[in-house]
Amino acid sequence: MSLFSAVEMAPRDPILGLNEQYNADTNPNKVNLGVGVYFDDNGKLPLLQCVQAAEKTMMDKPAARGYLPIDGLAAYDNAVKALVFGADSAVVQDGRVATVQALGGTGGLKIGADFLKKLNPNAKVLISDPSWENHRALFTNAGFTVETYAYYDADKLGVNFDGMLASLNAAEAGTVIVLHACCHNPTGYDITPEQWDKVVEVVKAKGLVAFLDMAYQGFGHGIAEDGAVIGKFVAAGLNFFVSTSFSKSFSLYGERVGALSVVCESKEEAARVLSQLKIVVRTNYSNPPTHGGTVVATVLNNPELRAQWEQELGEMRTRIKAMRQALVDGLKAAGVQRDMSFITKQIGMFSYSGLSKDQMVRLRNEFGVYGTDTGRMCVAALNSKNIGYVCESIAKVL
Ligand code: PMP
Repeated sequence: MSLFSAVEMAPRDPILGLNEQYNADTNPNKVNLGVGVYFDDNGKLPLLQCVQAAEKTMMDKPAARGYLPIDGLAAYDNAVKALVFGADSAVVQDGRVATVQALGGTGGLKIGADFLKKLNPNAKVLISDPSWENHRALFTNAGFTVETYAYYDADKLGVNFDGMLASLNAAEAGTVIVLHACCHNPTGYDITPEQWDKVVEVVKAKGLVAFLDMAYQGFGHGIAEDGAVIGKFVAAGLNFFVSTSFSKSFSLYGERVGALSVVCESKEEAARVLSQLKIVVRTNYSNPPTHGGTVVATVLNNPELRAQWEQELGEMRTRIKAMRQALVDGLKAAGVQRDMSFITKQIGMFSYSGLSKDQMVRLRNEFGVYGTDTGRMCVAALNSKNIGYVCESIAKVL
């Protein structure tokens, strides 16, 4: 009798399962729109020029690899603060933000979740309906009861904002509200700046705890534009959480570079919060790895490399938008009668296409076009070579 004989097989991760199926598919025209990764027009995962330049300067002056501090590289944490809150932000200058380097955006969420669980063990967590699936799993695993707030309106092809506000208004004080700061995953629908003002108002009036997940800063309207929502929470005088991911914006998926920032009441409070975040890190993986954080800090702290990054990020953003338009045009050209222009009203890497599960299964099985059963497609994986085939295939299942 083995120690593990009663261990059950866990369900496969739906997205990774899709990848496996894609890899095994022998259709020469197959297209993977399942995973949330940006590919360039040649279908290649980009290695940004700014990253290569930073790595070159790092190799020119090889550094030994001692342990980093528990909260990560200071130059990195400071660069994250400047990016997320603005270089001249008073909260940063006053020392009211506690930031730790994290293992990607997921790591930032997890450090925040573990800290919140100690702070308020009975709090509920609300995620959007629908949300990035790992939100539910991650907060559940951190010990929270996870429920949803209304978000997507399939009939309206947009956000059910009245429903969202009603959900937030009905939440108990102390409830943690996980909000997508920009480029909502999976729907592609963000709320407007005016709607954000209302969310901030309710969060403040009801004593809710906002946890902003910023996995796509720069992929929506621009770095500062996407970051503006953070400024609204700061202006309202709230204490809140922001997780940051550079997986997409630096195309550094495998380096696991992210952060968690917590906005506090005072410098002294931020020091206490930071000390607790460090315990979470120390007891999980001790301290973060050097390479990815050094690359990102080098780029963000060097004006030339920073300008190069902004340009490259802008090119990714522009290409995604062009692919959205090409998808709308291509579907029309392929004979689709339904008005698909909603695709250009969505933002970021994903599109909720409105296709049913049956249609997505047919797309996959008959045409080798892979998206999730919910109808989510990664428009950042479309390119000038595969778009025609994708449009024709969708037209055939619609
Ligand atoms: N939050 C959201 C909404 C995401 O879409 C993702 C990545 N798919 C993450 C967090 C996690 O990012 P990372 O890969 O940096 O952990």
